[in-house]
Amino acid sequence: MDETKQKTLKNLQKDVKDCAESFNFDWSNYVQYIHLVEEVAELGEALTVEQGDRKAGSGEQALADHTDPKEELGDILFTTLQLANQLNVNMEEVMRETFERYDGKLKKLKESST
Ligand SMILES: [Mg+2]
Repeated sequence: MDETKQKTLKNLQKDVKDCAESFNFDWSNYVQYIHLVEEVAELGEALTVEQGDRKAGSGEQALADHTDPKEELGDILFTTLQLANQLNVNMEEVMRETFERYDGKLKKLKESST
């Protein structure tokens, strides 16, 4: 990971690519997708600990293995960016388009309420 680069989404996506290559992650798109779903589930588990619904532990006796929501959000973003790399999707462009869609939805919502 290059620490001198500005951490734009584009740079982070490249860092994820480099990291995945270092670890020889060459999973299929489907396995990468399953990994993303697993990370989302880990976020849910961490939130149950944060909310006091479960206790942290080794996983035995229903104790939670994943306890840090921030760590799991990082895993979700990392895994999402890796899946985007595998699909040759530029996430900076995707996010720009996503904001445009949400701006359009907000505009329609405001127009319908006037
Ligand atoms: Mg995780």
